[in-house]
Amino acid sequence: TPQHLDEKIEPLYQEVLQRNPGETEFHQAVREVLESLGPVLVKHPEYTERKIIERICEPERQIIFRVPWQDDKGQVQINRGFRVEFNSALGPYKGGLRFHPSVYLGIIKFLGFEQIFKNSLTGMPIGGGKGGSDFDPKGKSDDEIMRFCQSFMTELYRHLGEHTDVPAGDIGVGGREIGYLFGQYKRITNRYEAGVLTGKGLHYGGSLVRTEATGYGATYFVNEMLKARGESFEGKTCIVSGSGNVAIYTIEKIHELGGKCVACSDSNGVIYHQQGLDLELIKQLKEVERRRIKDYTEFHPDAKYVGNGNIWEIACQVAMPSATQNEINGNDAKKLINNGCMAVGEGANMPTTPEGIKVFLEAGIAYGPGKAANAGGVATSALEMQQNACRDSWSFEFTEKKLEEIMIGIHKACFETAEEYGYPGNYVVGANIAGFIKVANAMVAQGLI
Ligand code: GLU
Repeated sequence: TPQHLDEKIEPLYQEVLQRNPGETEFHQAVREVLESLGPVLVKHPEYTERKIIERICEPERQIIFRVPWQDDKGQVQINRGFRVEFNSALGPYKGGLRFHPSVYLGIIKFLGFEQIFKNSLTGMPIGGGKGGSDFDPKGKSDDEIMRFCQSFMTELYRHLGEHTDVPAGDIGVGGREIGYLFGQYKRITNRYEAGVLTGKGLHYGGSLVRTEATGYGATYFVNEMLKARGESFEGKTCIVSGSGNVAIYTIEKIHELGGKCVACSDSNGVIYHQQGLDLELIKQLKEVERRRIKDYTEFHPDAKYVGNGNIWEIACQVAMPSATQNEINGNDAKKLINNGCMAVGEGANMPTTPEGIKVFLEAGIAYGPGKAANAGGVATSALEMQQNACRDSWSFEFTEKKLEEIMIGIHKACFETAEEYGYPGNYVVGANIAGFIKVANAMVAQGLI
């Protein structure tokens, strides 16, 4: 892969560094995309002339706001809220909300930037955006979560709309939070505007398969990468980091396709269960009781829990990082390769560091970057918007089939684009170029805006 920046692109990247000081995750995400774009500028001089790269790296709008709320003791708490409306060339801004103490503008910008290309790859009419707060949902009561969501939406609502900006969930934001956010939006605007948020409950405008979509989609994507190499999930030992929504439905689909997932994790530690993970138990612990993954051993004494453990030391053939950014560094990547890993599919956004990516690409394994592999979540959000727009609701089978077709399409686009540009089998280059070109062409067509 081209690890250096093209001489025309280097100064543009330097400008991004200067204009966005301290936002290391954003720099990392921008650099990773720009490394792929040299040959694209050669083929498309109009992109240089219209300053497409400079414009794509600059959010169309960034909103930062105060979120005051009262905890159960009656104490006043204050958090910061963000929404970065990055690019609307292909449709209304679309992307999740992340509630996590690590959130600051640089994290939201990296996620929003990735979202532009991811959403483009889905083939659906959605632009890129992202939002969130440094609010920590851990240990908060249901009432506190509700009051926080209501306060957050009391500012955010004025920037949203089914044709303007459509948030969904991300880390720390699931069905419960979307429900509270939707309720507040409806109350303030006096509009039952179902298409303004996705990931809604099934009884009030949600879509079947949305809950499962990111994990299922990532697994379909890896399945396509394996197929392209004459392989399948059948009998393969797999590792999935995390134990949230993405991890849970990745494990479910891996098991359905004949693989065996032996390990998962949370921010405290790692569970290893050699006979294969008990997914029903994980769902009960994490989705229903909101407990820690450590408690798994209470029910399966033969499983091993390692506090602060490194999941990437466990031997596997397929690894699916599904926790958070930069969870696989260069050394972890080397360990995976040395232990026989042949495919990596990113359920999380940017889970592999630049050094880690280099190791995977040089080893020649099948490496599916997040903006391609985890696009099933947002693609199914777009399917939810379609159903809302025509006041319809589709069956599980129909919706899942659509998701599968979309993932096969994304794999094909990445695979063929990589080939066309002389990097066969390189899904990083394929995803970046295929995602970029659609947005760039739409921006050229829409004039200087
Ligand atoms: N947060 C998810 C992502 O990273 C889903 C976004 C959405 O459905 O809008 O793509």
